[in-house]
Amino acid sequence: MVIQETKHDFEVAILGNGLSGSMLGTILGKKGASVVIIDEDQHPRFAVGESTIPHTSLIVSILAEKYDLPELEHIVDTQRLAKHVCTTCGIKRHFGYVYHRPGQVYDRREGLQFGTSARDENHWFRQDIDAYLHNLAVHYGAVPRQKTKVTSLEINKQGVKLHTSAGEEIRARYLVDGTGHKSILAERFGLRETPTRLKHHSRTLFTHMVDVPPFDDANNPLPISYHKGTLHHCFERGWFWVIPFNNNPLSTNPIISVGLTIDPRRYPKPDMSAEAEFNEFVNRYPSVAEQFKDGKAVRPWVSTGRLQYSSKQTVGYRYCLMSHASGFVDPLFSRGMFNTVEIIQALADPLLEALKTDNFNDEAFLAVDRQQQKVLNYNDDLVNCSFISWDDFDLWNAWLRVFGLGTFLAEFHLMNGMSDYTRTGDPSHLVGKTQNSIFCDFEDPDYAAFFKDSVETVEAYEAGGMTSTAAAQRIFDMANQYEFAVPIRKDALVRAHWMKEEDQLSERDLGFIRRGFRWALTTPLTRDVVSSSAAFFRWCAHRPDPHLCVESDSQSRDLKTPRRRDERKERRPSLRSHAVRSSSPVAPPSTTDARPAVQASTR
Ligand SMILES: Cc1cc2nc3c(=O)[nH]c(=O)nc-3n(C[C@H](O)[C@H](O)[C@H](O)COP(=O)(O)OP(=O)(O)OC[C@H]3O[C@@H](n4cnc5c(N)ncnc54)[C@H](O)[C@@H]3O)c2cc1C
Repeated sequence: MVIQETKHDFEVAILGNGLSGSMLGTILGKKGASVVIIDEDQHPRFAVGESTIPHTSLIVSILAEKYDLPELEHIVDTQRLAKHVCTTCGIKRHFGYVYHRPGQVYDRREGLQFGTSARDENHWFRQDIDAYLHNLAVHYGAVPRQKTKVTSLEINKQGVKLHTSAGEEIRARYLVDGTGHKSILAERFGLRETPTRLKHHSRTLFTHMVDVPPFDDANNPLPISYHKGTLHHCFERGWFWVIPFNNNPLSTNPIISVGLTIDPRRYPKPDMSAEAEFNEFVNRYPSVAEQFKDGKAVRPWVSTGRLQYSSKQTVGYRYCLMSHASGFVDPLFSRGMFNTVEIIQALADPLLEALKTDNFNDEAFLAVDRQQQKVLNYNDDLVNCSFISWDDFDLWNAWLRVFGLGTFLAEFHLMNGMSDYTRTGDPSHLVGKTQNSIFCDFEDPDYAAFFKDSVETVEAYEAGGMTSTAAAQRIFDMANQYEFAVPIRKDALVRAHWMKEEDQLSERDLGFIRRGFRWALTTPLTRDVVSSSAAFFRWCAHRPDPHLCVESDSQSRDLKTPRRRDERKERRPSLRSHAVRSSSPVAPPSTTDARPAVQASTR
């Protein structure tokens, strides 16, 4: 039995044993590198950031396959998670966004659900996930140093030298900083941008609660329970998150993660406790107050200052800052852990190569820096425009399509690359083809231009250059002129475990799905952009969500459905019976009627 590891020389020293440090340590250890992971805290410990997106899970699956680490994939599959890791996590079937006005009961026509995938995403109870990953890293040879502070740090041509609070001297050839926002290296080398270049401003308050019931029943006319996803209560320049860990039959955890994120320029920090401030916000919105009326915090509240930070550089000679150490925007859209695993993917191979060649010059790692800076800017625009758009539901409805088009299409392209990689073993399939991308090289080739024009439109509204109605209309017009492909393939859906090989899905069915997606993502008349059979059929018939098909009230702002160039040519989808099993999550139904689209209020 090893009581204390006495080795002091390592190839890689990793600071921080959270998600990034432990996952990278697992990969490096598996590939035979000697690794030490140092953390001032110890597992299990609280960590925030729970909600995954398909992009996050797809990259974890790729890492698991590429580095032959099936245990990594346990954390993305709901069943395997409960069997092998813990029973404390929830599931996520959608991003649910409901829109609120102060003093008013929620209007259920102003709720949107964007499906995450045909297989469940996860609400990770981070203290268990992080502990599991840390133990996995140790299993693959990483040497743990918990409850250990770094007291001095030096990097030169010979390598990295650290001293710790335990009196130990640790030498390594490369240093990875996974210490998050408190980043040791950013502090040591003055890497933070002050002031940050990021446009967005927010601060946050959060805790874990029990006794927060589902936001459903009368509030939810959509097909999936809001409780089965990550719920966002959005309002002018702010949002609450509700992330249940108890929404999964396999979960034994009654806890719900809750938080409030607000713009401090609009809502300066008051002189009161975080809990009192949270309750004050809750009480402004009657439907939110109803959901939280019995909620009880089970751990201390956290209240932060401004969340946004960025770094001038994120790699340097013999070091790299992991995503969360290099910068952060806002939890909205759950992109933090996606960016984290993306940087693990980008860093692992160059680092393993550098350990072989002994070439640790910055150039080998510059692509990692470019990627980190790019996604930070993208996340900044994405969230900043969301906060602006929350002035008006119609503008928010338009802006969410801009997010959806980027995310859905990139995920399909990535899934295709993953399937091709699995089939051929050729790692070039894991590199996307899009040049000058705005957030990832798997995004649609024309997305960057569409995104930039959409950002300019929302910012023009903010600057007073156009009304919110005109801005929303312009975004939908641009979306309709944007000739994107929906690159969905059956083999890729199977590889990503979104459907089974034996499920039948013909090319014709796929064409049906592609057309449906196209309409759903570019019209103001859908609210449940999820992958259900009934929805695909309805979309192909260009029929709005049923609960929108009501007489406009006096306050409704009718956005006309913009006409696409190909719309006149498009024929009604065939009603011929499809040989599709109804269990297939992305399959169209076999029969139904197709009434002509009716004019609907957008609210
Ligand atoms: C409020 C909030 C909500 C979020 N929600 C989501 C979400 O829903 N979905 C999502 O994908 N992402 C989310 N994120 C982002 C997510 O939290 C991060 O991407 C993720 O935690 C990064 O993991 P990490 O291991 O790099 O850093 P962390 O999880 O921050 O871990 C850092 C580790 O470093 C250690 N450490 C810190 N300082 C030192 C030191 N001086 N010496 C030694 N050790 C140190 C800490 O103890 C800790 O173990 C959220 C972030 C915030 C702030």
